[in-house]
Amino acid sequence: MRPYDLIKKKRDGQPLTKVEVRALVEGYTGGAVLDYQMAAFAMAVFFRGMSGEELSAFTEAMLESGEVVDLAHVPGVKVDKHSTGGVGDKISLPLAPAVAACGVPVPMVSGRGLGHTGGTLDKLESIPGFRVDLSTDDYRRLVAEVGCCLIGQTAQVAPADKKLYALRDVTATVDCIPLITSSILSKKLAEGIDGLVLDVKFGSGAFMKRLEDAETLARTMVDIGTRMGKRVVARLTNMDQPLGVMVGNALEVQESLDVLEGRGPADVRALTIELGAEMLVLGAVAKDLDEGRAKITRALEDGSALEKMREIIVAQHGDGRVIDDRSRFPSTAGRAEVKATKGGVVHGIDAEAVGLASMLLGGGRARADESVDPRVGVEVHARIGDRVEEGQTLFVLHVAERGVEEAQRKLADAVRLEDGPKEAPALFGERIVGGAP
Ligand code: URA
Repeated sequence: MRPYDLIKKKRDGQPLTKVEVRALVEGYTGGAVLDYQMAAFAMAVFFRGMSGEELSAFTEAMLESGEVVDLAHVPGVKVDKHSTGGVGDKISLPLAPAVAACGVPVPMVSGRGLGHTGGTLDKLESIPGFRVDLSTDDYRRLVAEVGCCLIGQTAQVAPADKKLYALRDVTATVDCIPLITSSILSKKLAEGIDGLVLDVKFGSGAFMKRLEDAETLARTMVDIGTRMGKRVVARLTNMDQPLGVMVGNALEVQESLDVLEGRGPADVRALTIELGAEMLVLGAVAKDLDEGRAKITRALEDGSALEKMREIIVAQHGDGRVIDDRSRFPSTAGRAEVKATKGGVVHGIDAEAVGLASMLLGGGRARADESVDPRVGVEVHARIGDRVEEGQTLFVLHVAERGVEEAQRKLADAVRLEDGPKEAPALFGERIVGGAP
């Protein structure tokens, strides 16, 4: 089977067979299919798309290019959540312990932040001592013993995706729904999960700005995940403004602890409860979403979710005392502000600019090999629909040495103020459910 023929077949709009797809992915992983051939194939997929059967074969081949963790020793339905990423999206932090506290095992492999979006691993590492680089054996043990483990991806997971993603990045083929689907699912399914809740963001701060694109991505991921034998549900959620108040690593962990204490911003709490309810239904410990919501709410209010968080932190070598003593988090004394230069009603917040401001302060990275400063970030004190007065504080910046003025300049234009009233955007969009796996 020559790569040339497979590229030509795709270029001409014909679906590849399962055998052909596997040969291509295996050839690419092993080096027989060259980068320029795979780049041509990716571009052909960009224009021609993939059938459901073809895409599930492609995703399966990517998944099987590396290690797939076996969690068969853990009783129960193992469920994870994946978010397509946004600004201030710290939901994994309150969600994972809350769901685990309700009896559903949560194996969670997360990523690092890049550009304007943050990453769960960077946030967790702002807890003194917390380790995300555990071995697969420790991960398997902690999912069984604690009910949850939050780690980073090992080099053994989906190596075909690692190679292909780097190639897509330089060949204008990242924004391609079949390739995004196979990339995300191949990595998620390698965790050993039975079910997956997808939080697909749309809006100005999201990877998918347009609702229609987010919807297509959600439907495709639900379809492929279901074809691959998993229980999958997707929620479309709004990312037209940052989630919660805090953007920045240690700041977001502390806001997550607020939620685990039964407090916290309404949107972070609502999303935690809703996605948690979905996970409990997939995990078969709630018969419907109402029961799931009630169970998660109870876990946030009776302290069991917070105690589970402490257990996770200690199990992963972190300082569990941060739960009772927030002064143990890394912090900076420096503060700066951005104030409104006129009065008006908030009609829009450029979430991406807020994420970039945090990055400029050192809280995020422009390149994958950069380190982050856990202390810095931005407090967002405006929400769409709020009335603000001239001189009112819109943002409080937690600053160290870097990027203060540049971040202030970026934030100065991030809030759009107009005269008329504006309705706040609904947080939740469509719910997309897969068939029985
Ligand atoms: N995230 C991924 O992991 N893969 C993509 O293709 C896009 C976003």
